[in-house]
Amino acid sequence: MRECFEIRDTDAGGRIGELSVPRADVTVETPALLPVINPNLDTISPRRLADEFGAEILITNSYIIHGDDDLRERALADGLHDMLDFPGAIMTDSGSFQLSEYGEISVTTEEILAFQHEIGSDIATPVDIPTPPDVPREQAERELETTQERLEIAEDVDTGEMLVSAPVQGSTYPDLRERAGRHAEGTDLDVFPVGAVVPLMNDYRYDDMIDAVAAAKRGLGADAPVHLFGAGHPMMFALAVAMGCDLFDSAAYALYARDDRYLTVRGTRALEDIDYFPCSCAVCTDHSPDELRALPDDERESELAAHNLHVTFAEIRRIKQAIRAGNLIELVEQRARAHPTMLDGYRTLLDHAAQLERSDPVSKGSFFYTSHESARRPEVVRHHERLERLSVPDSLLLTEGDAPRGDEYDESWRVEPPFGPFPRALSKSYPLTAEVPDRTDRAALAAAADGVARLVNVNPNAEITLAHDGWPAAVLERVPDDVALVDLTAA
Ligand SMILES: [Zn+2]
Repeated sequence: MRECFEIRDTDAGGRIGELSVPRADVTVETPALLPVINPNLDTISPRRLADEFGAEILITNSYIIHGDDDLRERALADGLHDMLDFPGAIMTDSGSFQLSEYGEISVTTEEILAFQHEIGSDIATPVDIPTPPDVPREQAERELETTQERLEIAEDVDTGEMLVSAPVQGSTYPDLRERAGRHAEGTDLDVFPVGAVVPLMNDYRYDDMIDAVAAAKRGLGADAPVHLFGAGHPMMFALAVAMGCDLFDSAAYALYARDDRYLTVRGTRALEDIDYFPCSCAVCTDHSPDELRALPDDERESELAAHNLHVTFAEIRRIKQAIRAGNLIELVEQRARAHPTMLDGYRTLLDHAAQLERSDPVSKGSFFYTSHESARRPEVVRHHERLERLSVPDSLLLTEGDAPRGDEYDESWRVEPPFGPFPRALSKSYPLTAEVPDRTDRAALAAAADGVARLVNVNPNAEITLAHDGWPAAVLERVPDDVALVDLTAA
């Protein structure tokens, strides 16, 4: 058990947790957003982030502070908390991003960790190597080795109460990401950023992003706090949380504002294209789009940044509520409709349904079948696994219709897409109480047929009959040949 992180609630791979940050003497509730503060220019002051937006934690760059005489002197003299005037926890980055952008930096892991400690950082970062996507495997392996050496150096530095992060690299090689996760888990470091995913997100490769996170999570323990480094667009938070990410940092709110871009949970809009604001934050209720456009540049930038932050924090709260209510996957389904690449991300998430199933609660409020992807949710995977453990009589009717009156069968079970068969006694238990549309779809029928097949395959000696409501031939092909078929619509 990691002492600094405690999980309170889970839904799919998502969780509400508490990250204890001893040096700041605060507990941060996750999923959490860390606004990025550029120490040279604050679009929105750290004090305002805390008071107006409820930010419990922020992130700034110790390498920039280290490299600037004035900032360095002030940080060393006053400490980061006073310098920035922020009452919550402060995480610092190390210059790894600058390393990936410019090819070299002028500090070592020992130096920058000591510096982060001296200026009062609460969560520090070593200098890892952020290997970009799609590099040759040899490069990814070589750089991962260097990152791992740096993590081992970081372990030996005396950092007192300061937490230290252990970035997980490995480019777009899932086995390397998993290996990196396992190595990081084996250190006594505290927080686990999945690194170098920004290029994936800039290219809308949410499917590859999910694969990278899923692989890192397989290596890390279930109780490791995971930070998706550089991911600040609210549109993909629900997806990333459902895969098990706990911390996000956003520079996007400020960078997009500088370019007159307006964030929404369904993507980014250009301010010049907006006639009506789809938001009721203070910025959007106090100004019409025309009024906002008419403001002087710096004022407009600051107002837009404030809106961008409002919408970003609101999405974090919405996600927490969804985890509490047990409908996080339904929120992901909604977000997946915003862009085809988000749908790719969601479908990739479902490729990992068995991995998500391990942390998914056995019972929740309701299961809403809202898209054909719902047929691949973790709950369906779990039900199919459970079918293998149920005891089956010698002769069994599986039916979408009513129970038969006679004694032709030892027992009769219900069949419902997308779950497939289940004993009638289970029909009041989650997820079999699901709300499903009357007009079902091929994916739900296919999943139900797979459930039948699962049951038949582990009970080869039982005589099983399936009575279905006119399932198409392509679906019935998934049912083993020795099942007797009755088409209820043919009667
Ligand atoms: Zn707004």
